[in-house]
Amino acid sequence: MTENTTNNNQGTEKKPDKTIKPRFNTNWIFAVLAVSLILFSLLNGGKPVQKTTTSEIKEMIANRDIEKLIVINKDQAEIYLKKEALESGRYPKLPTKPGTGFGMSLPKANFTYTIGDMSSFEPFILEAQKSAGYTEKELIYPDYQTRKNYLVDALSWLLFPALLIVLWLFLMKRMSGGGAGGAGGIFSVGKSRAQIFDKDTNVKLTFNDVAGLEEAKTEVMEIVDFLKNPKKYTSLGGKIPKGALLIGPPGTGKTMLAKAVAGEANVPFFSISGSDFVEMFVGVGASRVRDLFKQAKEKAPCIVFIDEIDAVGRARGRNANFGSNDERENTLNQLLTEMDGFGTNMGVIILAATNRADILDRALLRAGRFDRQIHVELPDLTEREAIFKVHLRPIKLEKGFDIGFMAKQTPGFSGADIANVCNESALIAARKNKTVVEKQDFLDAIDRIVGGLERKSKIISMVEKKTIAYHEAGHATVSWHLEHASPLFKVTIIPRGKTLGAAWYLPEERQLTTREQILDEMAYALGGRASEELIFGKISTGALSDLEKITKQAYAMVSFFGMSEKIGNISFYDSSGQSDFGFTKPYSEKTAELIDQEVNLIIAESYVRAKEVLKNNIKGLTELAELLLEKEVIFSEDLERIFGKRKADLLKEERKAEAKSKQTEAVTETATPEKTVKKSKTKDKA
Ligand code: ADP
Ligand code: ZN
Repeated sequence: MTENTTNNNQGTEKKPDKTIKPRFNTNWIFAVLAVSLILFSLLNGGKPVQKTTTSEIKEMIANRDIEKLIVINKDQAEIYLKKEALESGRYPKLPTKPGTGFGMSLPKANFTYTIGDMSSFEPFILEAQKSAGYTEKELIYPDYQTRKNYLVDALSWLLFPALLIVLWLFLMKRMSGGGAGGAGGIFSVGKSRAQIFDKDTNVKLTFNDVAGLEEAKTEVMEIVDFLKNPKKYTSLGGKIPKGALLIGPPGTGKTMLAKAVAGEANVPFFSISGSDFVEMFVGVGASRVRDLFKQAKEKAPCIVFIDEIDAVGRARGRNANFGSNDERENTLNQLLTEMDGFGTNMGVIILAATNRADILDRALLRAGRFDRQIHVELPDLTEREAIFKVHLRPIKLEKGFDIGFMAKQTPGFSGADIANVCNESALIAARKNKTVVEKQDFLDAIDRIVGGLERKSKIISMVEKKTIAYHEAGHATVSWHLEHASPLFKVTIIPRGKTLGAAWYLPEERQLTTREQILDEMAYALGGRASEELIFGKISTGALSDLEKITKQAYAMVSFFGMSEKIGNISFYDSSGQSDFGFTKPYSEKTAELIDQEVNLIIAESYVRAKEVLKNNIKGLTELAELLLEKEVIFSEDLERIFGKRKADLLKEERKAEAKSKQTEAVTETATPEKTVKKSKTKDKA
């Protein structure tokens, strides 16, 4: 049971997938290893030697073909044949010349023989020779050699460290989050993760694509001019600014604006998020900053855009009790050094975005760094209309679609939210097999984005439903009868997301809020609970978010806005966010007590006011609640039918009528002297 007035959905950003290619890739290591292995085995072996059998050996002996016999490692025998034997034609499969290893001068065995039983091998050879009629002198005895296979040895030596290295590389990749970014690994941990848009990537965004934001645009327009005609400024001795900070809530088009600057100036655009600098390895952030600036200087003139700069730029030395993050500080220091380091007229301009300018380190905002601050606020009515126009371009609309109405329905929406509404409405229309997107689809899309998906299936008992209906009717009734309440346009008891029901207001576009307006807001926020108490004599937990809101408001009134007489015109608000008031209050115990008292008083008074209004309109309240139970959703027209015109509208009309009558009086008053003047003039002429 909340009052939904505004909402901020974070925009989903589209990022191109082109990243800067790392110059070194781990795959190279594996390639080099593989190539050297192949070469090694070629050098070592060449063609494998033919195997032979016991009977063949006997035959060789009988033919007296064997030159020598070498037993290797006690299990292999190498047989070398005589030159004449090879030339004799008895061994057609063998080359006629003694084989040599690939590029080596050592002679190669012609046959190998696998020895089954070592102890019987030598007797067998000698026996065979003797039976072939060899004399004692002619007898060939096997030589014994132990030979190392260096390849196997080397491999077994290498295997373990290689495994370790592979494991380490894998872990590095995982830790640096490189998995998603593609090839990178340990050799690019220190490289910046910036995405670059230049002439090759067709991301052409101009100021035409950015709707509204006129002031911000004029400010950045200057930057475009700096980049386009640097001479114009430098020849007069001026210095081109180094950076500008775009400040504003998420989804308001900061990234878009920065991209548009690059697009308009026709220069490369580097985009990186502040959180990309933050890594668990010491020194990585700083080295990434260094790399980013190196790349940027190479591409100058260009624009570097750092999104969410608060991730690195948070004020240093705070939260000391939680152990400060040295790594982040190093990164920030590096950023500051780099910004000081490059010359003013290098043509590199840094744009950074944040929605928390208050927590940024003062050093970042100093002149010569981000010396310009451009505020990008949530769009107002006309700006929303312009943004709708941009995002409705690709959408097939029904005839006579009212864009102005859509803009009115979306107070507090950011540009990203509006883009989302347009897309969502097209999806909803498609789901209903429509050929064009209709107004109702947009309303459904807005509902969905504001409140999450409808949960009609959520089971609510009749008793609960009645409580919710009276609660919401209470809000509506009170707000209808208060002068400064925001105009109500819809009340629903359809559960959505976490809320069970909601009263929707169109907040006025205003920069200042008066005490009366806050008090009225508090009164109608309490209207829900007051109605429950009045009708059922029981209160429920349904008022949680209402109470949370008014408590915050009341404390803000007393301790921030100086709106309580007893405390006076004092504000304990800290816009710098630099002092840790969370731990030590800047006021005495006595003041603290006084603040609590004042807050209690304000809330109690508001509750009484709300109840008063409800008591006076109890018939309308019941009618409204019953209508809600029946229809689930009601609009301002229904309220007007029940209660008549809204108090605020009535007063407005009254005032207008009053002013009119005063004006006519004023006219009649001034009429006479004017006439006399004219008369005198005519007299002169005459
Ligand atoms: P931020 O960087 O402020 O969080 P983005 O620039 O990423 O916001 O905006 C997100 C999306 O919202 C954009 O891609 C665009 O579709 C839409 N958008 C935001 N502001 C505007 C605007 N003024 N005009 C048109 N579209 C906008
Ligand atoms: Zn409520």
